[in-house]
Amino acid sequence: MIAYSGNPLDRAGDKRGDAEWLTALRCDPRARILPLCRLQPLLKETGGEAVTELRYVSGADFRYLGGEGTVEVFLGLADGIAYFARDVSGADDAFVKFGTFKDARAAAALLSYEEVAIVGQAKALVDWHLRHKFCAQCGASTKMADAGYKRVCAACGAEHFPRTDPAVIMLVTEGDSCLLARNRRFTAGFSSALAGFVEPGESIEEAVAREVMEEVGLSVARVRYFASQPWPFPSSLMIGCFAESRTREIKIDGKEIIAAEWFARDAVKLLLSGERRDILLPRRDAIAYHLVKTWAEED
Ligand SMILES: [Zn+2]
Repeated sequence: MIAYSGNPLDRAGDKRGDAEWLTALRCDPRARILPLCRLQPLLKETGGEAVTELRYVSGADFRYLGGEGTVEVFLGLADGIAYFARDVSGADDAFVKFGTFKDARAAAALLSYEEVAIVGQAKALVDWHLRHKFCAQCGASTKMADAGYKRVCAACGAEHFPRTDPAVIMLVTEGDSCLLARNRRFTAGFSSALAGFVEPGESIEEAVAREVMEEVGLSVARVRYFASQPWPFPSSLMIGCFAESRTREIKIDGKEIIAAEWFARDAVKLLLSGERRDILLPRRDAIAYHLVKTWAEED
C-alpha cells in the first residue's frame, strides 16, 4: 500500500454541490470534523498500547469556534456519517483537552493507511483555500463553493479549482543496476530516485527523459509507469516510473543533484534489509521506497 492513497471516504461528487444536503449532514450530531492547526491534524493516543489515531470533533463541539472566513471542507461519507476538515489555526488552546496537533509527515508514521489518506486530502484542500483567497483573473476576493472543491469570484464570476501538481519520480536502471542520487536538500547519507515537476505541454515520458538528462546527463531509452501517490506537501501527485538508461556515464548537474551512484540489485537488497547501512534509502511512506523495493525484488 502506498501512503496517502486508499482513502476510504466516498467524496459524493454528485451530491456535495447541494447546500441543503450538505447542511443536513453537517448538522447531524454524528458528523465528524478533523481540526487542522497550521495544517497539522489533531491526534489522540488511545489506551496503554499508545495506539495513535485521528481525533475528530463533533459538530456540536464546534459551536463555540465559528467565525467569518473559516475554512471548512467536506471530505466525504462513510457509513452515512459525513467527515469534514476545518482550519482552527490560532485556536490551539481550545483543543488541548481533545488531543495534540502533529506535523502531517510525522503523523503519517503513526496512523493507519486509511487515516493517512484522509490527512492528505484534508491538508491539501485546506491549504489550497488558505492560499487562494483572491481571484487569479481580477484580484477580487473569492468565496468557497461546492463543499470546498471550488472557489468562485464574486466580481468576475471566474471559477477556481484546487490545484494538483503532477511530478514525475523515476528510478533509473541499466541492466542489473539502478541509480540512487543525493539531492542537495537531502540529509547526509540519504539517496533516492530522481524527481521533478511535469512542465506545461509535456507528457509523463517526456518529463522523465528531460529531468534525467538535466540532473544526471543520461539518455532514457524506455519509461515504464509504476504507480502514483498523492503527496500533500503541498499539493503534488507523484507519478512513479522506471526509466531505462542507454548508458552508465553519469554527469551530475551539481545544482540539484550533488552525487549519484549505480548500485547492483544485490547491493540494493542489502540496503533494504538493513544489512548495509552506509546509504539511507527513502522512508516507507514515500513512493520512492516502493520504486526501489519493487525493482530490487523483480526477476
Ligand atoms: Zn475575478
